[in-house]
Amino acid sequence: MAIGGLLWAGLRGVLGYVLGSPHGRGPEGLILCILFGPVGLLISFLLPRGRTCPFCGASIVKKAVRCIHCQKHLPPTAASRRA
Ligand SMILES: [Zn+2]
Repeated sequence: MAIGGLLWAGLRGVLGYVLGSPHGRGPEGLILCILFGPVGLLISFLLPRGRTCPFCGASIVKKAVRCIHCQKHLPPTAASRRA
């Protein structure tokens, strides 16, 4: 029974990661889905989303001025100009 529960938690984690990744929410989706199941997945979709680096395509936070992956300076967005 405990093994089934662990397997189910792992499956939820993988599902949360896979569904969250295209939105830059992979790790958050994984953790929230393991802890809260479908509700956690919903929460991960409602969290504020990042954006994609125009140079390397990696997921970065919305207000970033420099990509943490390729170190290039990013053009300002409407959101970062307002802040
Ligand atoms: Zn980059």
